[in-house]
Amino acid sequence: MIVSEKINKLLQEVPYLKEVADCKAVLLTNPSKPEFKVASTRTKFTKADVNDAEARLARFAPFIMLAFPETKSAEGLIESGITDVEGLKEMLETYYDTKIEGQLWLKRDDQLPIAGTIKARGAIYEVLKHAEELALEHGLLTTWDDDYTKFASQSFKDFFSNYRIVVGTTGNLGISVGVMGAKLGFEVTVHMSIEAKAWKKNLLRSRGVTVIEHKTNFTQAVEMGRSQSLQDDQSYFVDDEFSEDLFLGYTVAGNRLQEQLKTMNITVDENHPLFVYLPCGIGGSPGGITFGLKQVYGDNVHCFFAEPTQMPSMLIGLMTKEYDQVSIDDFNIDGSLTNMDGLAVPRTSGFVAKLMHNFFDGGYTVTEKDNFAFLRALVDQFEIPLEPAAVAGVTGPARLFSSPLGKAYIKDKGLEDKMKNANHISWATGGSMVPEEDRKAFYNAIDNY
Ligand SMILES: *Cc1c(COP(=O)(O)O)cnc(C)c1O
Repeated sequence: MIVSEKINKLLQEVPYLKEVADCKAVLLTNPSKPEFKVASTRTKFTKADVNDAEARLARFAPFIMLAFPETKSAEGLIESGITDVEGLKEMLETYYDTKIEGQLWLKRDDQLPIAGTIKARGAIYEVLKHAEELALEHGLLTTWDDDYTKFASQSFKDFFSNYRIVVGTTGNLGISVGVMGAKLGFEVTVHMSIEAKAWKKNLLRSRGVTVIEHKTNFTQAVEMGRSQSLQDDQSYFVDDEFSEDLFLGYTVAGNRLQEQLKTMNITVDENHPLFVYLPCGIGGSPGGITFGLKQVYGDNVHCFFAEPTQMPSMLIGLMTKEYDQVSIDDFNIDGSLTNMDGLAVPRTSGFVAKLMHNFFDGGYTVTEKDNFAFLRALVDQFEIPLEPAAVAGVTGPARLFSSPLGKAYIKDKGLEDKMKNANHISWATGGSMVPEEDRKAFYNAIDNY
């Protein structure tokens, strides 16, 4: 393996980095993370930003309900349920030769309305915020108290048809931006990286979205989109690497989950810790959700991100404190070997990684084999078909209890006697829109490992 001098030095100095570079499955805890109180002083984002995002989504709810009737039962909120997956415990314990304490749950963002992935939280928020700004600026709306169902009117659509939205993506971000953008009347262009699945491109084209296919990776597809958008005054770029609005859209999940757990009579406090396991690509969705959850539960929620062993970009960014200044390519990691296309991001978001340095409790990497084994198990036991990226969080509880650093974490936090009261939520991030044929292929994929 030939790597630069800088990378060689990092490999020698940073504990566990060699294992990560060798694509071993590891679970690491974040040695830099301060208490929530301290972490809060190290960022410009506050609870007020989360509430602002929540209020904006509430303003748009009447429009969303009208434009997407499938959101009617939730009164225009784009939200998902929680499924009991306690039945998965036995297989997890056997597979990882460990004992899991606490209850297992699956957060069903695979069933989010409109776009069927976690991206619907951030991307739809950003598109709506942009539309609101344009409408206010041009006098189509007068105040935030205005009637937002106007956004479904032909005159609004005609207005927005003069504007463009551009995005670069491995697929799912494009679906959320494309479907909502097109519904509002925007001309949307989606730059797709090499990983993007054919059905995702077809779906977008059927909604009138322009899809540009690239034979390059995510970072380059984003770059192409950004430079196209910059040349056009009427164009807005949804920037997966740098967007603060995208991030804030995700944070709303914190308040929403708190409400949901209350309704389910699930307690989260210092004697009832909550562990959350979030699949991580560029870092926006796990970062935003972690930030939102910490606002409501403080140090009683423990947030771990999950990445493919073949695409550990957030992990190397955090471990080396180089953030977006290192990519998996610098370590000669072959990212093309992952099937978790939603997580296929070679270089993490610098803005999210620096922020999350103070908030993530840890992260782990998942092998393709383990991931496909549990993808099949979810279908067999619960008839829940997820896409590969969405499964990465499912093995989290077993990894926590079976790994040396996970065990040390439980002990150091004084949680040993409390884990029997713990709740573990694995965030299932996508899958409901996957066509039957692709589902079958995912189900059978374990046979190749
Ligand atoms: C994008 C995506 C993720 C990760 O979100 P990031 O913001 O890229 O970290 C997880 N799961 C699925 C299905 C995704 O599409």
